[in-house]
Amino acid sequence: MSPEDPIAKHFRLAHAQAAALRKLGLATIRELLYHFPARYEAQGSESSTRELVAGTKVTLYGTLSKLKAKKLWKSRRAITEGWFEDATGRVKCMWFNQPYIASYVSDGSFVRLAGTVGGSEKSPYIANPEFEVVPPGSGPAGGGGTCRRPAGLFEKIPTHGSGLRQNVGAKNSVIPVYPESRGITSLWFYHAIRRVCGSGAHKNIEDPIPENIRKKYHLPDLATALLYIHTPEKKGHAEAARKRFAFEEIFIMQTVRAQERALNDSQTPFRISDGGAHAEKFLESISFPPTRAQSRAIADILKDFSGAHPMARLLEGDVGSGKTLVAAAVSYAVISNRRTFPRESATVPHSSASLQVAYMAPTEILATQHFQSFIEYFRHLPINIALITGSGCWKFPSKVARGKPTAISRTQLLKWVENGEIAMVVGTHALIQKSVKFQNLALAIVDEQHRFGVNQRKALIRRTDAVVPHFLSMTATPIPRTLALTLYGDLDISVLDELPPGRAKVTTKIIKKEQRSEAYESVRRELAVGRQAFVVCPRIEEPDPEKMNALQARSAKAEAKHLQKDVFPEFKVGLLHGTMAQKEKDNCMQDFVSGKIQILVATSVVEVGINVPNATVMMVEGAERFGLAQLHQLRGRIMRSSHPPHCFLLPETFGQVSSKRLKALEKNDDGFKLAEADLETRGAGDLLGRRQWGISDIGMEALKNPRLIQAAREEAFALVREDPALEKHQELAARAAMVSRALHSE
Ligand code: ADP
Ligand code: MG
Repeated sequence: MSPEDPIAKHFRLAHAQAAALRKLGLATIRELLYHFPARYEAQGSESSTRELVAGTKVTLYGTLSKLKAKKLWKSRRAITEGWFEDATGRVKCMWFNQPYIASYVSDGSFVRLAGTVGGSEKSPYIANPEFEVVPPGSGPAGGGGTCRRPAGLFEKIPTHGSGLRQNVGAKNSVIPVYPESRGITSLWFYHAIRRVCGSGAHKNIEDPIPENIRKKYHLPDLATALLYIHTPEKKGHAEAARKRFAFEEIFIMQTVRAQERALNDSQTPFRISDGGAHAEKFLESISFPPTRAQSRAIADILKDFSGAHPMARLLEGDVGSGKTLVAAAVSYAVISNRRTFPRESATVPHSSASLQVAYMAPTEILATQHFQSFIEYFRHLPINIALITGSGCWKFPSKVARGKPTAISRTQLLKWVENGEIAMVVGTHALIQKSVKFQNLALAIVDEQHRFGVNQRKALIRRTDAVVPHFLSMTATPIPRTLALTLYGDLDISVLDELPPGRAKVTTKIIKKEQRSEAYESVRRELAVGRQAFVVCPRIEEPDPEKMNALQARSAKAEAKHLQKDVFPEFKVGLLHGTMAQKEKDNCMQDFVSGKIQILVATSVVEVGINVPNATVMMVEGAERFGLAQLHQLRGRIMRSSHPPHCFLLPETFGQVSSKRLKALEKNDDGFKLAEADLETRGAGDLLGRRQWGISDIGMEALKNPRLIQAAREEAFALVREDPALEKHQELAARAAMVSRALHSE
């Protein structure tokens, strides 16, 4: 068996199994080996139906029959009931909200069933047990009695090679359980992987982690780790293996970042001279002084401008921390320069145009707002600014309307950008179309960068020109340091950890069901004195038939209707959601900005930087469905003025965990601290709602371990410095290339 063989070459797969493997993205033996258990079960917990004690966990072997799906009369909840039977008796089993369970097994199948006993001694039952079909006769002999593993489970496993032998057999006290997947059982993986290891295939994969690094951090080598993770003899094995694979994953990711960084650092930047003096001049021209954090970030960027390679920097700053001012100051420094050519070159174009800046925002609303901000910031300076979006192009200043932007044709805009007459171009994705050509693009800024794919970000700086623009990425998404290093490890980071003075502090309150009308009255009071309100509803990603009853999330549409008709008939309620046409969205936003609408009901589209200073109230429905960081961002929408803002969180359920999480928001207004708390309680996968970043569960766990991240990072950067092409590390090179490809196809 070779690691590169297709699984199907060695295993006869039923149709459903083949489909399940495909869905899991597992095609080769190597991929099968990298499919890790989700958890482990201690062996020895097998018992029989004779000795069921309520509240204890049991693993039983026997038959499952008479499975029937029905609806509970009162709640209309789907329930499947059936009977489990072994040699000593039988017990009722039930599954909630899993109407399809009955179709999983044929009547009378022999199963291994695990769950927690409920009910009483006289009439016990097991609710929502997990089970899988196993060969008849598996389990403690006769379905009751001793706790020995049946020989049948291990008998036929070939035991070539050292390591495996000791890991196979009755000594095995920890049983791996693989991630659930329809069509294929955990047990199939269990046996398949044992056969693979038995053939020695696991030893034919080269270890991507160099030996010296493994030694330094006491990590098992790949072959050992594969055995440890799939067939641990004790808990310690699994733990050592998981630590190794966590390190491996982060190490490979950091290798990719190190390579990206090395590529960046090999390029020639635009020269920006006298940046400090220009930025100073700009800052003197505005009506307020920059915060210390803003000054620091501006200084970081100006320093990069005079470096030997193009800037690659991330500016992280909580909502309202004033990132736009930083962007404006450094843009001004860039625009105040003309292009200079370091060496004599025959191809030097004759041009006196200034250097240019491109500023990309994820939505039309945001691009337009930024266009307006830059007009404000640059009003008194001789700078041409343009806006390009899917629905139109604008330019400032205008020859026809003094002090206002005018609509221009796209052709006209493209011409002026190409001949350098327009120095600052703000836009949406429209900016990265091929037709947009710059004369001297020296600085590319991406706002809310997580909204863009890697390719879109790169498209902004990837020019045919030999000189590469400086790159500034901006985000209001507070992310813990470990995650920032993993995702953006190729960028330097500046943080705005301070808000401009004079902002009123936000009051955040969790509203219980019976307090709802009270909350509405508070909102009414604010509206009555001229303020405006957001009502945010959880976006429903897919119809969720299992939750069609009481738990159905409030949808923005229904809520808007209800609020207008039953709660706030005296005010105007508007609706904004992601699937509306752009034009409708813009009109709606415009009406909210101008105050025609007092209450804006929206899905989380409002999350990203919309600026309506008069909106000081927010209600978040289904608040527990959002990540803390996301809620904090939403709350940022109402922190734009000096009026005291109020944020009401209205969860649908009041579980312990979600209450604790939401309480953190009541207490805390530092986005970064909240992000760390989120990482602790929910794991990184949930930080920003449902987003993943191509990091596995094991990698996500690793994010809670700053020392591991730091070590993997240092080793990867050192290795790439020493061996940039990874010539001495072929396997690592191949794995890094794979990660890089995946990133670029996102
Ligand atoms: P964000 O970081 O969320 O993009 P903005 O750049 O939109 O923040 O700034 C938020 C608000 O704060 C704007 O109205 C801006 O004019 C104001 N602002 C920015 N910097 C300062 C400052 N140093 N002092 C006072 N107000 C500021
Ligand atoms: Mg912003």
